[in-house]
Amino acid sequence: MKQWRVGILGATGTVGQRFIQLLEAHPWFTITALAASDRSEGKRYGDAVAWKLPTPLPARVAELTLGACRPPLDCDVIFSSLPGEMAGETEAAFAAAGYPVISNSSAHRMAADVPLLVPEINAEHARLIPVQQQRRDWTRGFLVTNPNCTTLALVLPLAALEQAFGVELAVVSTMQAISGAGYPGVASLDIVDNVIPYIAGEETKVETEPRKILGRLSGDQVEPAPLRLSAHCHRVAVTDGHLCAVSVKLRQSAPVEDVCAALVEFRGVPEARSLPSSPSRPIVLRSEPDRPQPRLDRDLERGMASIVGRVREDPLFDVKMTILGHNTVRGAAGATLLNAEFLAATGRLT
Ligand code: NAP
Repeated sequence: MKQWRVGILGATGTVGQRFIQLLEAHPWFTITALAASDRSEGKRYGDAVAWKLPTPLPARVAELTLGACRPPLDCDVIFSSLPGEMAGETEAAFAAAGYPVISNSSAHRMAADVPLLVPEINAEHARLIPVQQQRRDWTRGFLVTNPNCTTLALVLPLAALEQAFGVELAVVSTMQAISGAGYPGVASLDIVDNVIPYIAGEETKVETEPRKILGRLSGDQVEPAPLRLSAHCHRVAVTDGHLCAVSVKLRQSAPVEDVCAALVEFRGVPEARSLPSSPSRPIVLRSEPDRPQPRLDRDLERGMASIVGRVREDPLFDVKMTILGHNTVRGAAGATLLNAEFLAATGRLT
């Protein structure tokens, strides 16, 4: 397999650090460039970063000098974890300069010609890339995004149910980890002994992104899936792992056993199954009455799966369940990396 040189935008942040951790010893990708804000520019990465992961900062990466978030960077492909406000222009500038930009930021997710890619679910949406390049007059460069952290945890089980029975509507209440707000994120005096029932912009993302992801590619556009969603999002005092309590109305009612079978059997499309970061089970079903729990279950399948438990009948809808996803792994850096692997394996990273 060809090797690609990776540049990371937002490299000092919570997601940037996960990229560095997940890319250490990656078989296809090597980090050659790092960039962050002008506060960090010109510094040695090891001096600029407040490294917060339990694995050591790789020595080679610590010695790299942080560049500016503008082209050129010494790399073949860009992984972006910039704050949404500045990702729009910056990522487009890299794509226009010929870099494939594989982004975790929200800025371009809902653009009609940008794939919001979850390879197990909508690999065919990658066919938007040449449409995008033609529309924007880009040659080698392009933009591909992954969903919001909560959306990703939720959409894998929704895809399994959509495939098996169809989903008419879903109501989700989330309990989201502090690391989802980046670093330093939420002040300790706000979150200790507390739950904050507001995360700016989050409910809209959770209500809209799954419709695009589960949508069908028709010609050169995605027709959003017809399901309707309602989200209530809360920040809780957990370090990593977003938990979602979900009630679902199916198009075709099904008993709990059939719902469980559909979740367990879900594997996604073949192209997404054997990538270096693919989970062997995209959905892990727990049968204990008190699981999943963030601290105990978030690292199952190396943090790359949605963990589902408490699947039971819902007195108002059809079925309800609890879903857990690791927000900085499958919900962020791991999703971007899986997208990059999928694009590489299908010949879209030249
Ligand atoms: P973070 O910890 O606050 O890190 C932000 C990064 O962006 C840092 O590297 C920072 O560099 C850089 N940055 C800030 N302002 C900049 C500017 N004006 N120009 C260039 N770089 C700038 O945030 P995060 O949690 O890693 O989140 C990054 C992105 O991922 C956001 O779009 C977020 O919504 C998304 N996301 C996060 C999660 C999660 O669980 N945390 C999950 C899904 C999606 P300095 O160190 O130099 O300030």
